[in-house]
Amino acid sequence: MTELSEVVGPEQVLTDEGVRQGYETDWTGRFTGTCEAVVRPGTADEVAAVLRWAVDNGRAVHVQGGNTGLVGGSVPAAGDRPVIILSTTRLRTPLEVVGRSAVVGAGVTLGDVQRLAAQHGLVYGVDLAARDSATIGGTVATNAGGIRVCKYGMTRMQVEGLEAVLPDGSLISRMNGLAKDNTGFDLVGLLTGSEGTLGVITAVRVRLHDPAEESVVAVLGVDSLAQALELAHAQGTGLQAAEIVDRRAWAEAGGPDLGDHPWALLLESDMETAELPDEALVATEGPDRARLWHFRESQSEVAQQMGVKQKVDVAVPLERLDEFTTAVFAAHPCTIFGHVADGSLHVELFDHGEDDVLATVVDFGGAVSAEHGVGQAKTTAVVDDRGPDAIAAMRAIKRAWDPHDVMNPGVLFTVVD
Ligand SMILES: Cc1cc2nc3c(=O)[nH]c(=O)nc-3n(C[C@H](O)[C@H](O)[C@H](O)COP(=O)(O)OP(=O)(O)OC[C@H]3O[C@@H](n4cnc5c(N)ncnc54)[C@H](O)[C@@H]3O)c2cc1C
Repeated sequence: MTELSEVVGPEQVLTDEGVRQGYETDWTGRFTGTCEAVVRPGTADEVAAVLRWAVDNGRAVHVQGGNTGLVGGSVPAAGDRPVIILSTTRLRTPLEVVGRSAVVGAGVTLGDVQRLAAQHGLVYGVDLAARDSATIGGTVATNAGGIRVCKYGMTRMQVEGLEAVLPDGSLISRMNGLAKDNTGFDLVGLLTGSEGTLGVITAVRVRLHDPAEESVVAVLGVDSLAQALELAHAQGTGLQAAEIVDRRAWAEAGGPDLGDHPWALLLESDMETAELPDEALVATEGPDRARLWHFRESQSEVAQQMGVKQKVDVAVPLERLDEFTTAVFAAHPCTIFGHVADGSLHVELFDHGEDDVLATVVDFGGAVSAEHGVGQAKTTAVVDDRGPDAIAAMRAIKRAWDPHDVMNPGVLFTVVD
């Protein structure tokens, strides 16, 4: 039998227990599993060799980028097969700007893609607080959202092409970045948001944008999410970000006093056209802006410190946001923050009410995952959300591409129906 170390080189197969543990638990600490080794291929050919080895030797493979996903997608799920974690962090080439696109290895961090774009006077349209750990491959695999969706759209809208290795070791590559390409099934689109269940993304091509207009950051207390939305929409096309945090979580982060208002609203808007109420606290300079953003961006850590038990990311129709948050606050001890203009809310639960919250989301006509994906956390809830026929269609694709269920078993789908 060929050893894994013969496939990628012994120094890239990590079997030491102490080292493995660093990869076996996710960022939240909620999802944990065991693997026999962490393998770190440095090229698409090595990824293909690892996947072929796994199929031949009856192993499951869990793909891991920065391990910042919050739904357990990047760590081993319970199962009866030995697992290897395939870390993408050595897939760091290419790393270049071609025209108005960044062409980068899947293991490059989101922050490095942003900095690369800036070096060329451009911006990448995806941003989130885990930017310096999350990989570009992970953000494409999860179709990440974040704080700039209201301006640029989800990650899916930035992806111009990608390269991926399928479970049988074959390579799909569509990296030419053509604006028009009607040549059959959209495999790039299918792999985007597939959460590592169909293959390993090894490189991506993403669109870059002209820098946004100079902006102002403003914070104010609001009485409802409807009011927050109204203020966000008043910014018109100048809106760059619209974030809300409930008053308890805002206070825990040390945010400025909100008076009697139950929500803090943070707006970022083009300086020339911003429409801000007089009472808004406004920042235009770097450190002041960063300070205001910190109260919002530290919310995941704040919730950890407050003893969050379950983190639930959901989307709710905009016109029902207040009704939904009222229902959730009444039923569960929690804090809520999120990207209000997208109807995207993070419910940080201090009980184990996730299933109930997700059922409420389905009742409200929302989505049980807005931006983090399904992972291990929502494999049951996603059936209620999408319905059995859609899940059957997804499973058929999974079976066709991954007949041995090698890739991320237990993620997106339950292992056994
Ligand atoms: C503080 C904090 C703030 C966050 N804020 C946001 C936010 O605003 N918006 C948002 O959308 N998310 C947010 N996240 C979640 C997380 O950062 C994103 O889901 C991110 O896209 C995960 O990237 P990663 O490289 O860490 O992926 P991982 O966590 O390693 O993996 C996530 C999933 O993608 C798969 N995967 C990873 N790399 C590949 C690859 N190359 N090929 C195939 N599959 C792959 C994994 O198997 C897993 O299923 C936040 C997380 C933290 C900790």
